[in-house]
Amino acid sequence: MVKVILQNSQTELNNYGLTKFAAISKNIIEKECTKIQQYFYRYFQRDGLSNTVTLKFDLRYNGIAETTEDHITGSVIYYKDHQDDIGSLVHECVHVMQMYQNVNVPKWLTEGISPFMSPLPQ
Ligand SMILES: [Zn+2]
Repeated sequence: MVKVILQNSQTELNNYGLTKFAAISKNIIEKECTKIQQYFYRYFQRDGLSNTVTLKFDLRYNGIAETTEDHITGSVIYYKDHQDDIGSLVHECVHVMQMYQNVNVPKWLTEGISPFMSPLPQ
């Protein structure tokens, strides 16, 4: 089971208007990321994937969402107005499980795989 650790304080989330979105996102990401992790174990014979993902909504971040190792950063400005777009955070979770830090993989491959796995193929 993958666990998501929200790095924002309750006060920050309240101020951003993201309290409910953050709680719902956390639950969905935990559920979907666990499936994605199992998929990587089963079909790609990957090993030692992260069981913890940290998630932070950042007021100064100008993109939508990005991943560094097992940390997902989401834009406060974007998610405030797009509270139906949890899929983009699940997409980032695929990147966490791809774990490409130590290999040189072209960006088109990384980004090309993710849509096939979020949502997962049946
Ligand atoms: Zn991506």
